Amino acid sequence: MSGKHHVVVLGGGVIGLSVAWLLAREDLAVTVVDAALPGSSSWVAGGMLAPVTEAWPGEDEALALGTRALDRWPCFAAELGAASGRDPGLRTEGTLVVAADAADRADLDRLAAYLAELGREVQRLTARQVREREPALGPAVRGGLSVPGDLSVDNRALLVALRQACRLAGVRSMTGRVGVVRSDGVDLLPDLHTDGPGSSGGPIDADLTVVAAGAFSATVWPALRGILRPVKGEVLRLLPGELSVPPPRHTVRASVGGRPVYLVPRGDGELVLGATQAERGFDTAVRAGAVRELLADAEVVMPGISEYHLVECSSGLRPGTEDNLPLIGEVAPGVVLATGHHRNGMLLAPITADLVLGVIDGRPVDPVVDPARFGLVPEHRSSTVDREAGR
Ligand SMILES: Cc1cc2nc3c(=O)[nH]c(=O)nc-3n(C[C@H](O)[C@H](O)[C@H](O)COP(=O)(O)OP(=O)(O)OC[C@H]3O[C@@H](n4cnc5c(N)ncnc54)[C@H](O)[C@@H]3O)c2cc1C
Repeated sequence: MSGKHHVVVLGGGVIGLSVAWLLAREDLAVTVVDAALPGSSSWVAGGMLAPVTEAWPGEDEALALGTRALDRWPCFAAELGAASGRDPGLRTEGTLVVAADAADRADLDRLAAYLAELGREVQRLTARQVREREPALGPAVRGGLSVPGDLSVDNRALLVALRQACRLAGVRSMTGRVGVVRSDGVDLLPDLHTDGPGSSGGPIDADLTVVAAGAFSATVWPALRGILRPVKGEVLRLLPGELSVPPPRHTVRASVGGRPVYLVPRGDGELVLGATQAERGFDTAVRAGAVRELLADAEVVMPGISEYHLVECSSGLRPGTEDNLPLIGEVAPGVVLATGHHRNGMLLAPITADLVLGVIDGRPVDPVVDPARFGLVPEHRSSTVDREAGR
């Protein structure tokens, strides 16, 4: 494809914007269409770039993909900062995983053994060593694991930088809801239109459409029904008061009574506390019980959090797949999926943009993310895939 070709990117979350920016830099004409739907997950995410502390025995493919994605991040953040003039908020202090009771310690032992087996850089810490690194952590913490390579990014600073970089690269931005995706473009629904081109609804022609609609992708590409599901996550944002203990410098992850909880510090002093995980369709209400649980669990790990100011409670819908891996590849002539990033969309955004570019350039699809593993195959590829499956 060359500069004359027009690409519509359906979805203006972290995935759609990363793809749009990279394609525009390749001299393609790009339009991002976004409906600003409640439950979009990029604005609420914790922002951990954490393939190692997300890893679990048996999920080797996710760890390998996540590691490749993390390697891409420093360069992506530097290029984005330069292109946008905005700091995308990459933090390199690393991650501490801590245990609050005997069962959590057993989980930590298992994770440490698995990671050591894979030759990953982790260091066991006593309770004292954990508190030396993070004095805000409380006496319930029995020990921990230092994972210096697992980083974080300020999801909101990142989105602001991506929007600006897209604008400067000539990406056209439209607000509106897409009803149908076709091989030669998309149809905008007339009901949710706003000002600007296409405001009365109707077709937008394109040589290629990239479906990056997160948890909503199955509403525009029905073949995804039963393959992609919304996984709700509630998250809190807090700020230290005048007399509060300072927030931790590292990302702190823990499991309290079997429930995962994390604290991710931001450069402006904000602390992101997450996250619940529940399958409730497209429900996005923040439940009182979720707020209570998150605060209670965080207080076990960091008692001083009770003096912080609670500034925001929000929820988002993660786009989940059965194998927790994304769907990136062509599914019909002129239609490419870039969705299903579940808990790792921030981490995987740069590598997803690279992979979409690869698809457009005609490079072979990475089998780990190929939608063909769920039977989503464009007709002209089906014979090849059938042959490979039969081996
Ligand atoms: C609580 C929580 C914490 C998380 N923490 C982390 C983390 O620490 N690290 C990490 O890597 N990931 C994290 N994630 C996951 C990450 O947020 C997602 O994987 C990622 O944001 C998905 O991005 P996306 O662009 O695909 O989807 P979204 O951000 O949901 O964007 C999709 C966009 O498509 C638009 N759209 C949908 N349908 C249409 C339509 N028909 N027409 C037009 N526009 C449409 C929506 O308006 C939306 O803006 C977290 C998620 C949640 C909910």
